[in-house]
Amino acid sequence: MHISPENVEVLFGKGAELTIHKMLYQEGQYASQQTVTLVGPRKRIIPNLRILGPCRNLTQIELAFTDAVQLGIDVPVRMSGDIEGTPGAYIMGPKGFLEMKNGVIRAARHVHMSPSDAAFYKVKHLDTITLKVTAKGCTTRFDDLIVRVDPTFKLEVHMDTDEANACDLDHADKVELFKS
Ligand SMILES: [Zn+2]
Repeated sequence: MHISPENVEVLFGKGAELTIHKMLYQEGQYASQQTVTLVGPRKRIIPNLRILGPCRNLTQIELAFTDAVQLGIDVPVRMSGDIEGTPGAYIMGPKGFLEMKNGVIRAARHVHMSPSDAAFYKVKHLDTITLKVTAKGCTTRFDDLIVRVDPTFKLEVHMDTDEANACDLDHADKVELFKS
């Protein structure tokens, strides 16, 4: 979950702020100590949904498709931040309850890279690129990875747990990016 400062206060109480659990690979990004419970339309829940920090100006939930199906939410594939017309959800925190009108997405697979990485791969911001994961018995190609270029970015692919499990990423021998 990404969250606005106002919604942190709704869920965790007045004056509450995110605190760092673990730093992530991208500069300044972290998994916070704060978690919430998502309540879906069939009263099924996802407990211990982790909030990523720092705060953003909009609140958004990124689910793997398996989790969305289990909840009963028909979730669209979107780029982070593109949440118009997406489903909402009810979120329970320790100090309050948040009704999200929209913002539940399956995050579009993407790769973060610096301008020099982009030059190396001969791509620019918002191009697409292909990732090939070589793993015993389930070598898989992921097309349509969206390229995101920023001077602060380090080279890193972001995919969800469904995608990682499908190609047995944990036991993969090789990962390669190439122009589609
Ligand atoms: Zn990302």
